[in-house]
Amino acid sequence: MGKPVLVIHGGAVNTDPSTIPPEKEEKLRQGLHQALLAGSEILLRGGSALDAVEAAVQSLENHELFNAGRGGMLNLNGEVETEASIMDGLSLRGGAVSGLKLIKNPVRLARMVMEKCKHSFLTAEGAHEFALAQGLTLQDPSYFKTDEQHQEWLDILQEAQVEHANKHDTVGAVALDQYGNLAMATSTGGIEGKLRGRVGDSCIFGGGGYANNEVCAVSTTGDGEIIMLAGVAHEVYALRKYKKFSIAKAAQAAVEVYADKLQGDRGIIAVDPDGNVAIESNTNVMRCAYRVGDEEPFVAIWKEEVDRQLRK
Ligand code: ASP
Repeated sequence: MGKPVLVIHGGAVNTDPSTIPPEKEEKLRQGLHQALLAGSEILLRGGSALDAVEAAVQSLENHELFNAGRGGMLNLNGEVETEASIMDGLSLRGGAVSGLKLIKNPVRLARMVMEKCKHSFLTAEGAHEFALAQGLTLQDPSYFKTDEQHQEWLDILQEAQVEHANKHDTVGAVALDQYGNLAMATSTGGIEGKLRGRVGDSCIFGGGGYANNEVCAVSTTGDGEIIMLAGVAHEVYALRKYKKFSIAKAAQAAVEVYADKLQGDRGIIAVDPDGNVAIESNTNVMRCAYRVGDEEPFVAIWKEEVDRQLRK
């Protein structure tokens, strides 16, 4: 039995460093650390990769500074509409949900879709009905709205910059457990200035995530419109499977795939069956963390920290 590995992200974005003041940076680091421990403790107790990615993502969904669950980005109508996906690398089964307004932990519901529904993807009212039928309680919409997101929404309306929306910061996790199973989960509130009903890549298999025990588990973040069209998560899988790239090289190539035609922010976390970790982005911010076995956790906010750690 090998060492379990957990890698998580809290979003990749190109941003002016002054928009992340030191106190906020510290809180983001603590949030990532907490989520990493929530998942890695499960792995260290002999739990499954699926349970670990779900627990880590739930922790980030509950944290108001990350754009998923509570604190999710508001659409132009001022509503939260979240989405998530989860995939099991052993069975190749997956569950996805979108258009959620009342679900505290979208990743929990995605897992229920995977395990208890004959479909792989449920949206909007049908997803809420399924949640109720499964015994989940619905949250009041006020739970999701934080002062920060409300202020951002007001700013967007005022500045009318909606056509150039590029603020976002999804969360995700990939894991390898001691039995050799891989899993991924991704969850988001979407991008700033989104129209009501907009669906991003985080709930699209092959775009926002992918997992297959033989090859790798991947979760992505960035501009969903282009990530889903470039099939970024599946690209990592394909480069490893068919071209035999290392996971690091596959992630490096996937972050650039069709970048001439599909321009935007991209971030990738991945792990392979041997426990090799890849973290890539074309952004200056890459909020992420990983832990191998019970070793010291690594936590980063800036891409240059990741580069120092993984490419030393
Ligand atoms: N990919 C997400 C979306 O487009 C946003 C993000 O990753 O930050 O909804």
